[in-house]
Amino acid sequence: MTVQPLAELKPAPPSVRPLSGRVAIVTGSTSGIGLGIARALADAGADIVLNGLGELAAIDRLCAQIEAGSDVRVHYDSANLMRPEGAARLVDDTLSRFGRADILINNAGIQHVSPIEDFPVDKWDAILALNLSAAFHTIRTAFGPMKEVGWGRIVNVASAHGLVASPFKSAYVAAKHGIVGLTKTVALEGARHGVTCNAICPGYVWTPLVENQIGDTATARGITREEVIENVLLAAQPSKKFASVDELGALAVFLCSDGGQSITGTALPVDGGWTAQ
Ligand code: NAD
Repeated sequence: MTVQPLAELKPAPPSVRPLSGRVAIVTGSTSGIGLGIARALADAGADIVLNGLGELAAIDRLCAQIEAGSDVRVHYDSANLMRPEGAARLVDDTLSRFGRADILINNAGIQHVSPIEDFPVDKWDAILALNLSAAFHTIRTAFGPMKEVGWGRIVNVASAHGLVASPFKSAYVAAKHGIVGLTKTVALEGARHGVTCNAICPGYVWTPLVENQIGDTATARGITREEVIENVLLAAQPSKKFASVDELGALAVFLCSDGGQSITGTALPVDGGWTAQ
């Protein structure tokens, strides 16, 4: 038997891509993990609703790049998910535009680090609103139509901080534990209707959010960038490696494919062994 060299392997034709014909909403997909997941879902054949903050011209370029690499449709929706009506409208507008919303990736999130006695109340409210409540509002709006067609995939981007805690991250850890609980409940409610719901729990992933923390942390602690990466960020991650947005995209595609149909209610760590300790 001759083995075909990797270089000669062609990408699968569009008709056999696992998510052809599906429509996917990815919240917070103008950057980082959400953008990586949106690209992976598009490569797998899904039409994409991109969402998040940013400069319009840059976002238009992102949409064009994703469309250029495949034959899918990409639409940008600027909904602000801090507000319940923004989150619900994102789903409603997708249903009006595409006639369906098969895949919902709840990814948008923010962070604030502070001892609890000084934790600003407005930061607590904002983190709970975006990292937890927004997912409730998108899910409650998308769930009925998914049940009606008997097929749906919901993936919530939680965190290793949905499974374990770190000091000074009270709101983030509370919201991420909350979304793991929401994931289990939705999984049980969707189990007889072809609707799965899972949480992905990344450790540190190389994104602009993390990149921006490195310089600030180096200055605050008077150490080098390399020391921040080794001794602060990756201290809890036994692999001593960041996960990549491409790895998270690949996992999301699998969970959304037919191969993932019996996987529901899980919280899957992608953390280089962090939560195994
Ligand atoms: P990021 O800052 O690169 O991306 C965040 C996205 O959310 C952006 O597209 C931003 O525009 C969007 N967003 C912010 N406020 C919004 C709002 N009000 N309405 C709509 N969209 C809004 O961050 P990231 O690192 O890619 O993080 C994405 C998710 O992954 C978050 O939920 C985060 O908690 C989680 N996560 C990240 C890491 C990591 O190491 N980067 C680890 C674990 C979990």
